Amino acid sequence: MVKAETVIVGAGVVGASIAYHLTERGAKDVLVIDRARGPGYGSTGRATGGVRAQFETAINIDLSLYSLGFFDECDFDCRYEPRGYLFFATDDAQLDYLKRNVEFQKSRGVREVALVDPQTIAEICPILECSDITGGSFGARDGFIDPLAVMRGFSSGARARGAEIRYETIGLFIETANGRVTGIETNKGRIECENIVLATGAWAHELARTVGIDLPVTPQRRQIVWAKSKKTLPENLPMVIDIGSGFHFRPARDFFDPAANADNTEVLFAYPDPAERPSFNVDFDEAFIEKVYEKARHRSPFLYETEVVREKCRAGLYENTPDHHAILGGCALGGLYFANGFSGHGVMHSPATGRALAEIILDGRASFLDVSCLSFDRFAKGELLHETAFI
Ligand SMILES: Cc1cc2nc3c(=O)[nH]c(=O)nc-3n(C[C@H](O)[C@H](O)[C@H](O)COP(=O)(O)OP(=O)(O)OC[C@H]3O[C@@H](n4cnc5c(N)ncnc54)[C@H](O)[C@@H]3O)c2cc1C
Repeated sequence: MVKAETVIVGAGVVGASIAYHLTERGAKDVLVIDRARGPGYGSTGRATGGVRAQFETAINIDLSLYSLGFFDECDFDCRYEPRGYLFFATDDAQLDYLKRNVEFQKSRGVREVALVDPQTIAEICPILECSDITGGSFGARDGFIDPLAVMRGFSSGARARGAEIRYETIGLFIETANGRVTGIETNKGRIECENIVLATGAWAHELARTVGIDLPVTPQRRQIVWAKSKKTLPENLPMVIDIGSGFHFRPARDFFDPAANADNTEVLFAYPDPAERPSFNVDFDEAFIEKVYEKARHRSPFLYETEVVREKCRAGLYENTPDHHAILGGCALGGLYFANGFSGHGVMHSPATGRALAEIILDGRASFLDVSCLSFDRFAKGELLHETAFI
């Protein structure tokens, strides 16, 4: 029979980060299992790789600040590019919202964020139609990371310190005795363990259900259109987001082929389609292309004139919670921990998440940052958070 002190279910960027941080703290007996045939088959391999501190809630800002510092200084190359995030408003209410957020972000220590007027917006993003833009906010330290490079960096670091990662291993159900976790049954047999961490992304609900826990994580498809322009994109284009519609675009990065787009002509664009219903569907829907181009028509004639690169368009899953915040930490069942429900921010928050879970498992609480507001019991207590700056 296989034994491990801690079994992490899910080897995506979150599970890998937890293994990295646990082993950094000296934990020796860490086993990560994943049902996929190799790394990157979950949402991590579908993400666009944005990272930002421009959030509305204190906890999301704090998770981002910690994670940005990590990306800046980590011991592996995560391809962090501080290109910035530009949010823009098209009416006074939206601009007031951005003003409030910028003030709050500054009060929590985000130094590189500022309100910008339409003229500055046009300078930052010359391919944007600005006639109806009332202003915006720009976070210079926000930017891009390579989700697969982050995941590989965490996995390699964890392995180098003794963790093991096994693919094609499906967690089927959690075993318990006397109010504690005792093991996990898999398709390859039972694993005896003291701790189980669910880092199971959009699929988190199914394994939690095996111990009667109704984890409120809902899968939802998100699609991205990849396009190529005949003209070169402006230099240093940031992530650009219409705060009203969620329509956004950024220069493309092919994480499977980092040498691609060397001529700076490829771009990603998308928006949160309100027609999407919760599902595990990850098929790319051709109809989405027309919807996105319709959004681009007025906002950026440059984008409207690009040509779709059909084979690079993709769909993946967000893992939404009712308040669009992650679920981090333990629960009433001893030895069971959650790192779920990132609602589309799991790559950027993976460094802080890994450290938080390592401290919670080893010390009983996270001391580098108080993440208690993200605990699972907030749903039962009715202590939901409020974040509207999600895209
Ligand atoms: C289109 C798109 C764009 C995105 N853009 C961004 C972005 O710009 N920035 C950002 O921060 N985030 C972004 N995200 C969100 C991000 O991808 C996720 O939040 C993040 O990847 C979650 O990481 P994870 O490790 O929890 O999940 P995953 O990468 O999905 O890993 C979970 C793993 O668990 C495994 N698993 C599940 N159940 C079991 C089981 N029973 N047994 C064994 N293994 C199991 C799966 O095989 C999977 O490998 C985006 C997502 C999408 C879809």
